[in-house]
Amino acid sequence: MSRTRTYRCLGCLDHTLTREFDTSHLSVTCPECESFERFVNEAVFQTFRGFEKSPPDELEWGRLDRTEKLVVAERLARTAKTLADFDVVDEPDVQPVE
Ligand SMILES: [Zn+2]
Repeated sequence: MSRTRTYRCLGCLDHTLTREFDTSHLSVTCPECESFERFVNEAVFQTFRGFEKSPPDELEWGRLDRTEKLVVAERLARTAKTLADFDVVDEPDVQPVE
C-alpha cells in the first residue's frame, strides 16, 4: 500500500487520484471538472509548482507555456536530465514524452 503514486488533474489542479503504478501521467476523465484530462505524477507537479514560485536561473521559465513547463518538469522529475539540458529558443524543441 505504501507504493501508491498520486496523480493530479491538470484541468482543475485540484483533484488527485492514486494508482499503484508509477508513470509520468495518466489520461482519464476527472470526476471533479468532468473533462478528459491529463493527470500528472505528483512528483512532476511539485517540480512544476516549485519553478512557478521560484523560477530557475538556468532557464527562461517565464517564456514557456504550461505544456512546455510540464514537459521540462517531467523530464527533471523522472529522468536524469538537469536544467542544463534544456535551452529555451523561440520555437522550443521540447517534445511531449510518449
Ligand atoms: Zn479536474
